Amino acid sequence: MNQQWRSKSACQGLDPEIFYPLDDDESEEAKAICAVCSVREACLEHALGHREKDGVWGGATERDRRRMIRQRRRTA
Ligand code: SF4
Repeated sequence: MNQQWRSKSACQGLDPEIFYPLDDDESEEAKAICAVCSVREACLEHALGHREKDGVWGGATERDRRRMIRQRRRTA
């Protein structure tokens, strides 16, 4: 997949620690940034497609993404 979306990411230059919270309860700050990011969908699809294990991508934590993958399988 083309990676041009990365250059438009709202998280560019921010502290990566925000996006790698220790648990889901600490993911609110990252999710708030993702919520206003113009490339959120591309980012989320990248993470789902690559089975990214850690971090918040496209406003979703790893747990959120696992849930999305399960849901997609059920509706596929
Ligand atoms: S959706 Fe979130 S993690 Fe993805 S590029 Fe945008 S700000 Fe960064």
